[in-house]
Amino acid sequence: MNRFLTGVAATLLAFGLWAPSVRAQAPATSLVERVGSTGFVQIEAESFNNLSLREKTLAYWLSMAAIAIHPIGFDQNSRYDLRIKHLLEAILTHPQGTDPQILAKITDYAKLFYGNRGHHNAFNSEKFLPEFTPGQLRAAAEQAVKNRARIGARGGLLKELEELHRAIFDPNFEPMLTAKNPPAGQDPLLWSANNLYEDVSSADLKGFTEKYALNSRLVKRNGRLIEEVYRAGTADHKIPPGRYAAELGRAIRYLRNALPYADPPERKALEALIRYYQTGSPADWRNFDIAWVREDSPVDFTNGFIEVYKDVRGMKGAAQAYVTIIDEKMNKAMKALAANAKYFEQREPWADQYKIENPNPPLANAVETVIETGDMDVTTIGENLPNEAEIHDHYGSKSFIFTSSIRALNQATGEKVAEEFAYSPAEVERARQYRELANNLETAMHEVLGHGSGKMNPKLTGEPASYIKEYYSTLEEARADLVALWNFFDPKLIEIGALPNLEVAKAAYDSEARAALTQLHEVPTGDTIEEDHRRGTQLIVNYVREKTGAVEPVERDGKVYMVVKDYDKMRQGVGLLLAELMRIKAEGDYEGAKALITQYGIHFNKDWRDQIVARYKKLDLPSFWAGISPDLIPHYGAGGKIDDVEIRYPRDIIKQQLRYMEIVGK
Ligand SMILES: [Zn+2]
Repeated sequence: MNRFLTGVAATLLAFGLWAPSVRAQAPATSLVERVGSTGFVQIEAESFNNLSLREKTLAYWLSMAAIAIHPIGFDQNSRYDLRIKHLLEAILTHPQGTDPQILAKITDYAKLFYGNRGHHNAFNSEKFLPEFTPGQLRAAAEQAVKNRARIGARGGLLKELEELHRAIFDPNFEPMLTAKNPPAGQDPLLWSANNLYEDVSSADLKGFTEKYALNSRLVKRNGRLIEEVYRAGTADHKIPPGRYAAELGRAIRYLRNALPYADPPERKALEALIRYYQTGSPADWRNFDIAWVREDSPVDFTNGFIEVYKDVRGMKGAAQAYVTIIDEKMNKAMKALAANAKYFEQREPWADQYKIENPNPPLANAVETVIETGDMDVTTIGENLPNEAEIHDHYGSKSFIFTSSIRALNQATGEKVAEEFAYSPAEVERARQYRELANNLETAMHEVLGHGSGKMNPKLTGEPASYIKEYYSTLEEARADLVALWNFFDPKLIEIGALPNLEVAKAAYDSEARAALTQLHEVPTGDTIEEDHRRGTQLIVNYVREKTGAVEPVERDGKVYMVVKDYDKMRQGVGLLLAELMRIKAEGDYEGAKALITQYGIHFNKDWRDQIVARYKKLDLPSFWAGISPDLIPHYGAGGKIDDVEIRYPRDIIKQQLRYMEIVGK
């Protein structure tokens, strides 16, 4: 599961993904450019240069396997997207003689197309339209053909343009990537533009059981349903090639190249993945999952058909890959926290009967991504895999915190937000200096010390969620946030080197208070907060406000600010609420959870909200994000062996995607 389904995301919402963060040492912003409301950010992976040559080479071959499956992401989004991609690339690589103004419009469209893996917005599912006209596109394409580009191999250029016309230019043609709620009378499967089904309606699927639910396209031919399995086929021809055989075959070759550089557990996972890509069999995917959760290599990866959000039925996996390396700095902090879990547990503000004797904290890996392809977005800041519950329960799972993405997004919103929403120059300065560290540490404490802490009343036999029901997620995320906030002022953090001084803790408290206001811009309509993580933030800040007065709204020049007046008192308020939430969880007190969350977490001041929305609008920040991965470039020495791998930050999505295109040959 990814995105806002993980605890990490909760942290970011609570601490304000949109709140400021600027690294004192790194003045260059991650924000490369903007096209309309989409911001393009460069992802950086500083830890790469500390890897050994073996690890770098492994990362390189895994990144090539990620590039190999990248085109599948486009094809799954729309049956037109690979053709549109080819058309755009033909123009972009053969531009001589094209009107620069037309070329600029086509380039902008291509950036959005790459950023979203197709002609629909990856976040809100809506189709976006180009600024150029059909005539301008045709002129540029004809010029590209004059420059020896090949377009529309079968029927020629004009036929190709005609067949792509509606997809590119007609706002009413396939307007939604995924239409969970299509217009009345329309079928969600047929109305969705994605290519996970062809001519298949929901009614067709009654009584039909798929053999390859995750990795097949369902097609109706002559009234019969056919599963087009994604697979490369086996060498002995016993299993024939299926859909995406070329892409998966290429991925297999790169995975094989990676094998000699992987340690034995990871090699086993890679071998299992190769087998799965050959057969497409769910049993082989299961074998891969099991091998993968057991390996814990510093150079890790996913590569497969994984998240199912794009499918209205929630069955079909979208192609996704990433390669990660350990974020040394952050991981050091997390290990130190885990080593002291017992110390922190004993000092939690709740009753002793809810304290664990010997806590066994879950370990998430703080990682930087060296590449993200297919369905993977830079806004995915945490992930817990595999998704299969059976594997989770019997073999475990792995959690990732993508610190490189968190940094890239935080930097991109820059100082603008701090300057607008922090009350005093001192608060702005604290944010500038320490917000990133505060944010990272909060995430680490939330994950390592937060969720694993506390114990249930032994009389209760069920999972806490079975008692707290619809309020459980809000309660638990708020509880984990509060554990982090509580511990920020514990001297142990300075002792273990996680915190240079208490200014960082103050920055974290400032940020929490501000988040209660700034997050209102994400609720532009209506008068209640529905999303669990946002409810958690409101609960914390409103409770502390009312019980202690340590946080106060202050108006100045017609603008409202949420200001921390007294950090000691705020910590007392945090402790009070934390003790109560722990009691509620431990006793399965549904009514208690409901009362607290209803009183403090759901309602907000609508005048403030309207004001915050207006202030955000003025800041003119991007609404959507696209990531530019690092490029890994191998250097070959004598004998044709890789003797170094260089990491580069291209800061140019077109250049990067054209490089991918050259690698996969389409
Ligand atoms: Zn959480």
